[in-house]
Amino acid sequence: MSLLVVGSVALDTIDTPLGRAENALGGSAVYVAVAGSYLAAPVRLVGVVGGDFPSEAIELLRSRSIDLEGLEIVRDGKTFRWGGKYHSDLNVRDTLYTDLNVFEHFDPKIPAAYRKSDYVCLGNIDPVLQQKVLQQTDSPKLVVCDTMNFWIDRKYQDLLNTLRLIDVLIVNDEEARGIAREANVLKSARCILDMGPRAVVVKKGEHGALLVTKTMVFTAPGYPLEEVHDPTGAGDAFAGGFTGYLAKTENLSDDGLKRALVYGSVLASFCIEKFSLAGLEGLTESQLSARVKEFQKLSHFDGV
Ligand code: AMP
Repeated sequence: MSLLVVGSVALDTIDTPLGRAENALGGSAVYVAVAGSYLAAPVRLVGVVGGDFPSEAIELLRSRSIDLEGLEIVRDGKTFRWGGKYHSDLNVRDTLYTDLNVFEHFDPKIPAAYRKSDYVCLGNIDPVLQQKVLQQTDSPKLVVCDTMNFWIDRKYQDLLNTLRLIDVLIVNDEEARGIAREANVLKSARCILDMGPRAVVVKKGEHGALLVTKTMVFTAPGYPLEEVHDPTGAGDAFAGGFTGYLAKTENLSDDGLKRALVYGSVLASFCIEKFSLAGLEGLTESQLSARVKEFQKLSHFDGV
């Protein structure tokens, strides 16, 4: 089934203890779309870039069969650039710069051919723009949405309006607490369920993710890796794997959502094993399913 992805498209410069990447393809929509492309089809991307956006980046997205009709190119503008530096504790990251460039005036226009998309993944953009995207779509089967502290702090009422329109919210624990204005993460997730979504996913970095619906609480671990090269985009790859799996299977039951959580964790684990998008390029179906089986073994126990 079709998956529409809206969000940032960027050129990232990233420093981690294991190396550096300069002007590498990044952005939330890119990570979501590339991860989702292993499961859903077609994947449709809506974003904006400048005339400096490299042709190799376009090639990479095309090589994953991502539909780029919705990628607006502002010829006389510059692509959004973001720089980040990770500490030896990879959970700690400093943003060195955020040059919004053409992204500052991003006004998502959904091409007519995208309006009937079945599954929608709203990347971390202004909640008002997230609503504008949904106004341009024709009753999707499922809307998954990301957000961040920036919007929780500055556009709380608009975010609440977005929450009424979506099905699944994916956030980290701090964001969940910020939205619910509640210290406990599980209580926060339950409180967010009362604001609109039918499921809340709380990401906990290397410690995995928590899935909460009205009828279930489920947790999946993070895949244990000995070497993480670049955590950038892990959350977005997670969202792409999660939504892509639901678009592929169309099973939106609690059990379907549980499996989607595992696919999210699997795609995120491939993402962080290499720099930028290298970990998400050229994956095979057997690599994906082998890691899903590893997940099953990781947390299976019996004898109770
Ligand atoms: P994550 O590691 O999940 O936070 O995602 C990192 C990606 O988000 C990078 O590829 C950045 O280009 C992109 N990014 C960083 N800051 C922003 C922002 N303010 N708005 C949208 N995307 C951003």
